[in-house]
Amino acid sequence: MLHEALLAEARAISGDIVALRRAIHAEPELGLQTPKTRDKIRAALAHLPLEWREGPSTTGLVAILKGGAGAGKTVLLRGDMDALPMPEETGLDFASTTPGTMHACGHDAHVAMLAGAAEVLCRQREGLAGEVLFMFQPGEEGWHGARYMLDDGLLGGEGQERPLPDAAFALHVMPNAPHGQVGGRAGPLLAAADMLQIVVEGRGGHASMPHGTQDPIPVAAEIILALQTLVTRQFSAHDPVIVTIAQLEAGTTHNVIPDRATLRGTMRTLSTEHRARLQDSVRLLAVGIAGAHGLSAEVTVTEGFPVTICDARAVDFGERVTRELFGEDAFQRMADPIMGAEDFSYVLEKVPGAMFFLGFAPEGTDWTRCCGIHSTRMMLDEAVLPRGAALLAGLATRFLESGFA
Ligand SMILES: [Zn+2]
Repeated sequence: MLHEALLAEARAISGDIVALRRAIHAEPELGLQTPKTRDKIRAALAHLPLEWREGPSTTGLVAILKGGAGAGKTVLLRGDMDALPMPEETGLDFASTTPGTMHACGHDAHVAMLAGAAEVLCRQREGLAGEVLFMFQPGEEGWHGARYMLDDGLLGGEGQERPLPDAAFALHVMPNAPHGQVGGRAGPLLAAADMLQIVVEGRGGHASMPHGTQDPIPVAAEIILALQTLVTRQFSAHDPVIVTIAQLEAGTTHNVIPDRATLRGTMRTLSTEHRARLQDSVRLLAVGIAGAHGLSAEVTVTEGFPVTICDARAVDFGERVTRELFGEDAFQRMADPIMGAEDFSYVLEKVPGAMFFLGFAPEGTDWTRCCGIHSTRMMLDEAVLPRGAALLAGLATRFLESGFA
């Protein structure tokens, strides 16, 4: 199949892709329940020969395209659907009409590109052997939407009507990266992000008589500093770990020692081994330091998303498909992972695949000056949208033809 044809096909429907993106952008929804977004997707793709699946836990959708050339592999393409609880200050004429809610992470564009890919691939249906699963997923922004869809059996797996797909791909917009540039890396791409809370429990009293109290504040201070020592002394620099205490709560005034001090922060890791070990080490350290001073500490870890690990074969494959579609310079290997997190990681824990970043800075501008994701002024150059749709379609067609080879 000619891959230039995919880009031409995607460009031919760019009006539809942009319209869907703008409609979703204007009515952003949060969390696991995004019914308006679901309905827009269903309506936009209603004319296509797709089978639809929905699960009880979310408004997520899986659309299945059965190729017309017989059985074969199954490839999954994913786009997330939810927005962020933050105001929009772009001034766009299709800006959010829901106060305090904005598509600032580009998930509106992810949906639109995935819908575009569905349209393009349906037109190629007769030549495709195997199946394409289009995963429209809500609840990415901290809600574990991908895990719910997996648990609902929507992607297949043990005890389901179908096995899990053979490969999975997703794109993420990067508004402050060069126009149309695709980036990726083998191994860890994004970090695991776990929330940490430490409550140091002491006994308050008069600030002039600390010996009659159990002052939690110096103990909290010692824990904060010791956490940084723990990071460098217990963990290899070649498998980085970040612990940041970002919030410190204690006391009410200058002459009262409080009963307790509360620390909150984030722990980022790039391997499952370090993730588990860090949780244990932090607990041991906080409880030990508090105990050494005769106080106690309660450590609570709230697990966020796991590490996003890209399969090396899938990244090589994505690089080849990108170059075939857009030219030699279109793919950039990323030297380092990003310490943010992404719940496509749940899919990649079970299915070999990769996530790629796609640059959305306006052509010819200084992309370093563009607002990044999660900014109230984040904007995307919509001219890149058909590229994203073509890339998703190209990944699917090439994979069904020859796997990662
Ligand atoms: Zn995102």
